[in-house]
This record gives sequence, C-alpha cells and structure tokens, in this order.
Amino acid sequence: MEITEIDDIIKDKVPSEALVTKTLMQASEVIIFTKNLPLFLEDEKIVKGLAAALKRRIHIRSDPSMVEEPANAEKKIKTLVPEGAGVGTIGFDANLSEVIIEAAKPGLVIGKHGMTLKNIAIKTGWYPQILRIPTSRSKVIKGIRYNLLKHSNERVKIMKEISKRIYREGKSTDWVKVTALGGSREVGRSCFLISTPESNALLDCGVNVASTNNAYPMLDSLGFPLDELDAVILSHAHLDHSGFIPYLYKYGYTGPTYCTTPTRDIMALLQLDYVDVVAKEGRDAPYSQRDVEKMIKYTITRNYGEVTDVAPDMRVTFHNAGHILGSASVHMHLGRGAHNLLYTGDFKFGYTKLFNPVHMKYPRIETLIMESTYGGPRAIQPARYISEKNLVKTVQETAKNGGSVLIPVFAVGRAQEIMLVLEEYAKKNNWDIPIYIDGMTREASAIHTAYPEFLRRNVKKRILHNNSPFDSDIFIVVDKTKREEIAEDKGAVILSPAGMLTGGPSVEYFKALCENPKNAIIFVGYQGEGSLGKKVQMMGLRKNHKGIPMQVNGKTKEFKVNMRIETIEGFSGHSDRNQLLGFYKRLQPKPERVITVHGDEKSCVNLARTLSYNYKVEATAPRDLDTIRLR
Ligand SMILES: [Zn+2]
Ligand SMILES: [Zn+2]
Repeated sequence: MEITEIDDIIKDKVPSEALVTKTLMQASEVIIFTKNLPLFLEDEKIVKGLAAALKRRIHIRSDPSMVEEPANAEKKIKTLVPEGAGVGTIGFDANLSEVIIEAAKPGLVIGKHGMTLKNIAIKTGWYPQILRIPTSRSKVIKGIRYNLLKHSNERVKIMKEISKRIYREGKSTDWVKVTALGGSREVGRSCFLISTPESNALLDCGVNVASTNNAYPMLDSLGFPLDELDAVILSHAHLDHSGFIPYLYKYGYTGPTYCTTPTRDIMALLQLDYVDVVAKEGRDAPYSQRDVEKMIKYTITRNYGEVTDVAPDMRVTFHNAGHILGSASVHMHLGRGAHNLLYTGDFKFGYTKLFNPVHMKYPRIETLIMESTYGGPRAIQPARYISEKNLVKTVQETAKNGGSVLIPVFAVGRAQEIMLVLEEYAKKNNWDIPIYIDGMTREASAIHTAYPEFLRRNVKKRILHNNSPFDSDIFIVVDKTKREEIAEDKGAVILSPAGMLTGGPSVEYFKALCENPKNAIIFVGYQGEGSLGKKVQMMGLRKNHKGIPMQVNGKTKEFKVNMRIETIEGFSGHSDRNQLLGFYKRLQPKPERVITVHGDEKSCVNLARTLSYNYKVEATAPRDLDTIRLR
C-alpha cells in the first residue's frame, strides 16, 4: 500500500470533524495526527475501522499545535494520577506528542477502563506511554529509556525509512530457503538466513563465547551486502543468539532488530558485559558500546502474539518459549501464506518456577526449526523436586563442613531460577547460610521486576505486591571490592556468572575455592565444549581431579582442583530429551519438515532421526553453510 493510498483511505474513513493534519509511517505502524484527539478517544470504532482498512496498527496523536506546554502538562498529570501510583520520571516526546510516564504501579496511571490515561490525553494533548519502574534499581533500563527519548528525532527518521522498505513493491514468492550460518550441530553463534526472491531476514545472530576460532556466524557467505538485509529477528537475549547483532550495525546494517521488550534490555546488558570481558582478557571485541547503543535505536519491540510485517513477504509473531525472560519462539508467515515456519529458539516444555511452558498451538506450520541442546538419547534430566533436594543437600553438607559452595550461573535465567529455589527453602527452614549474588545477576534480576507480566503467576503476584523474591533480604549483593573476603567466608553460597566459567567473577571465586577439599562447585546449567566449566565438570564425573593452569596477575599458575564437584541437572531452561519429544507430540499442527539445530552433532542428528522414525516426518540436522529449500 502506497502512502498516498493510505492518506486516501484515512480521508475516506474518518469524519471531517476529526481534523487529521498529517500521517507518519513508523516501521509497520501508522501514526495519525489530529486536532481533535478527544473524538478518536471517545469513539474507538473509528480507529478499529481504520486499522482494518489499512491492515496496520494505528496510533492517534495530537497535532503538535494542540499539546500543552510540558511544565504545565506535568503539573496536570500529577493531579490526575492517584497518589499511590508512585510516579517517577515524566518525559515528553514532541516528535510523537507522547508523554512517557514511569510509575511503580502503571495500572493506576491507566485507571479503570483506561479512564485516567484518556483523561491525561484529553486534558494535556500528550498521549501517555506508561513504563513500569523496576522494584530495584536497573542501570540498563534507565539508560535505554533515557536514550530512546533523547534520540527520538533520529529514531522517527529511522522508523520512517524502515517503513518504506517493509511496504516496497515485492516480487512474487516462488521459493523460500533457509541457510545455516551458525548454530547447526553446535551450540553457540546461532544464525539462520531466511530468504525469498524479495527479502532476507536473519533469525538470531549470536556468538560462541566458549570458542576462539569458531566464535562468530559465517556472515561472509551471506552473498549480499549487509544493507540489503531486511530484518534481524531475535528469539532471546542469550549471547549465543544476540551477541553478534551490534557487529551488523557497525558494518553497515541499517534495518530493524525485532524482539520482545525484556529481550531488548537483557541483550544490551549481556552485550555490554561481553565487550567488557573480552577487553579485560586483552582481546579485540568485534564491536563497542557505541554499536550496542546504535542497535537499540533500531530495535523494535513486540509482545507475544502481536503480528508484525517485517518485509513485503514476511510477517513475524513471537510466542512464549519459557526459556528466559522475554524468550520467544518465532512464527514466520512467508510469501503471503506460501510458507509458514516456526523457529522454537531455546525453549522449555517442562516446569520452572519462573515461566509458563512453551507455546504449542499455531495456525499453520510447514517447517519447524527446533533446538536440540538435550536431543541425545541419554539426555534425560531428573524430576525437578529431586534436583531441588540435591541442591539443598549439597549446600547443607558443604556448609556443615565449613566449606563454601560456588554455583556458576548464567546471569540471566538460571540465576533467577536457583534464587527462587534457595529463597523458598531458606524461608521455610530459617536458613542462616549467607547467599551472595555477584556480577550481573543483581542487574538481571532487577530487569525481571520491570516485566512481571512475562513471569509465572506466583512470581508476578509477588512483584506486583512489592514482595519480589529477588529483593529478599536473604540475598547479599556483592560489593566488587569484597570478593576476596567473601571467598574466605566459610559456609557461604556464591551465585556468580559466567555460568560456564568462561570469564567474570565465577572464575575468580573458582581460583580462590578450588584447592580446598571442604568447598564445592555445583554446575546447574549447560557447559559448552571447550569451556573451563566443561573441563571441571568432566573431572567431577570421572572422579579424576587434576591440576588446571590458570592466570594469576599475568602469570600462569597450576591450581590443584580438590573441591567437591557436582552437576545437578533439572534446572535447565532447555527441554531435556523427553521434553523435546513431548513438545513435538503436543505441537499443533504438525509440520511437513523438521530441522534440528542448537545441539552438538550427536544430539542434533539423533533427535532428527528419532522424530523422523516416530512421526514419519522429514527431519534433518544440517551443518553450518547448508541451505535447505523449504518451498
Ligand atoms: Zn538461551
Ligand atoms: Zn542458546
């Protein structure tokens, strides 16, 4: 649909007293400016009719001549919003005639049936965007919100350009293909190119943090310059999916990155930390903080279930994947119905304390791209209650002996799940074992509290009632300068990233604790090939404790690993073998073809074989650089 056509439809559909002054295309949305905002707010039918006719999301905003002077508007807003809402910063975006209101209780700013929100819009001319304040301070959220408002001018221009590209005249979709650029028969650097004669999109673009020579996706074989890429669609924030996106912006990509709002915030946190960790190790990071900031300006967030046009013949919808905060399975509707593809991303079919299980019902699926982390025949995890019992038992035994427990965790996902388990147990049993939270874990937990609607009901309820488990006083947030003291504290639990001992404070604690047999290390997450975590884990499984050379003040020192080494499975945010098969069994409808990815070679191949044997479906485990024609 051309822009002139859109203007014609608007003229045709709205009454003349609507006083529409201009329209603004923003990616897949249309913003209509009016001198009569109350008319639209009072009669919702006008907007609904327009959205149906235009087949896009519509926002109605005041013509800039109709908005109140910000200082006066702020005063009015404060009188309109009830006291208990806990209003924080109020910012004004003159480009979109929007007022951004931060509040501890957004529901009170919206009001019953949206009445307070409408009142603000009518009385000030500014349309409210309401953002939740996390229950504990988050630097990342603050930074992103501040920057988006500050660069609103530039962002409006970016979104206008993106809109032109999404709605350009398209060729017919005679074929659809997928090319694996990373993350096939391996875990790390997930990246899949989806192409049609008209469009190209990347599903994820990650790095392998445990690898030095195969760390990045094979973008050299894209076959076209980066500025011809239409979209990056991100399933979730873990670095093996998001870690290479800023690099695209550094080298000429000017298109959007689509993800959920929590994914945007958490990926920024993880990418900035990645840049930091790499620099500290004296290596060159593939991009800098500036590129992360640039990426944020191009990022478009969508909720679960919202359908979005991303190219002339590509439409994307995110659905809950149950893996980490904001994690999504991506449904792609290609070539106006020619082909439907579901990319599961990393997903959890089983029970966790934090999230609802993965979404399983779709209108159409021809191709399924499915993760296979635990796809191997023996990759069965124990039941959750057994894992919880083992975790608590190991902690208690170690503490009783005067030792400390190190639990290396991914700062996002596993950390919060383990925190919930420990908090519940500690409260019930009046535990006096100190639990230290180090590194990014605190910040990551704070981000969770800004998005309670993405969490399981019980946790959501607690956050809404200002009783967030992550703010519980049983957790002690580590002051960086006190790490040595904490490592000497006898009988403590330390939760610290990186989860695979690939860097970060967990490695420092490991050095301090590993030689004393009274201490213990508990692995609760996936340990990638080549990581220090994997090495230590294998020592524990083989009961063959050896020395490990590690750096201390620039010199190599041999550490004798005497500590107890435990692997407790069952806390994973991934589905185990039975859960992967359970997901497939419940998935509706069944696809014509399955592609297994995101697992080591054996896991991907074996899962594909089992699915094709059990379900008579065409299932393959491609290698990186393989291209499969889907249609
Ligand atoms: Zn993940
Ligand atoms: Zn992953």
